[in-house]
Amino acid sequence: MIKLLITIDTEAHRGKNPINDWIFGNYKNKEYGINKIMDLLDIFNFKGTFFLDIAEYWTYGDAIKEVGETILSRGHDLEMHIHPDHFTKNKNRLFLHQYSWKEQYNIINACTSKFKSLFGFIPVAFRAGKYGANYDTLNILHELGIKLDFSAFYANNWCKINPLLSINSLSYYDNIIEVPVTVFKSFDLLKVNRVDSISLDGCNFFEFCNVINNVIESKKLDVIVLMLHSFSFIRRDYKYLGDMIGINWHTLKKVQRELKFLNELCNKKLIENVTAQGLAKKIENQEVKVEEKDDYLPSSGGKIFQYLCTLERSYLIFGKNKKATLFILFNLIGVIMIATILLFFLF
Ligand SMILES: [Zn+2]
Repeated sequence: MIKLLITIDTEAHRGKNPINDWIFGNYKNKEYGINKIMDLLDIFNFKGTFFLDIAEYWTYGDAIKEVGETILSRGHDLEMHIHPDHFTKNKNRLFLHQYSWKEQYNIINACTSKFKSLFGFIPVAFRAGKYGANYDTLNILHELGIKLDFSAFYANNWCKINPLLSINSLSYYDNIIEVPVTVFKSFDLLKVNRVDSISLDGCNFFEFCNVINNVIESKKLDVIVLMLHSFSFIRRDYKYLGDMIGINWHTLKKVQRELKFLNELCNKKLIENVTAQGLAKKIENQEVKVEEKDDYLPSSGGKIFQYLCTLERSYLIFGKNKKATLFILFNLIGVIMIATILLFFLF
């Protein structure tokens, strides 16, 4: 049965009240951050794997301990995420791959020790901030006794595990097991190709369902890794500091529908939810085998469907993302041109 991991990067980077606005999401006396995510996971019997940016201990101190304890006290999996700039205070180097082996070792070693002193155990799994790992990172994780890396992201320029070990299947490097963020072909038209992660907040609902069904039907992947962030339900002021300005109800309701859809697949025994800890144990027991199956890049559907989903995704991040904004403007110009030509011939 395909193993399903729901991973939540848990982090707060800027603003007047970052831990609240990016992690807890307390708004008008209700929470829409990690506790809301755990409420939804609990309703549908899922356990999440929360990658907590432990480097933020050097920015926010014991507030990070409270975040980790909140996750552990509710029975979800707590693992390590690192955005190195919170440790080094160097905003010109946001990716781990921008640091030498020795510098990376110092950062990851200090964060692993801090994680252990705060929570009493060494994390089983790791994800680099912005997926910015390279082979040095994997080598260091191996030295520090971490078993699984979740940083690989096919066709993402920030990830420098080059060449990538696989697209979506599990693989070994230095006894580290690489568990890639599952990606799918989201756009393939007029020689323009796009690959996206299966993110609960970023995908269109029908696109999400199609991709999951495609993975199940293919029988080629053992593991699906889904993405979410602690701030996925929060509307933030992107122009300024990223302060919370409201709730993204559209995303919240969509994620709820997606979790219901996944729960039905679990009930049909087509997929099984596991955490990173659970996956490590299943690999140890040889219940999940590494490098056994073919690699596979699922697709969300036909070309027109892909085009419409890309249009919707771009519309939702219009003004926040350069490519998405250009795509919307390009389509708008196209529509105006077609309308003009039609009006010219009609009148
Ligand atoms: Zn991150």
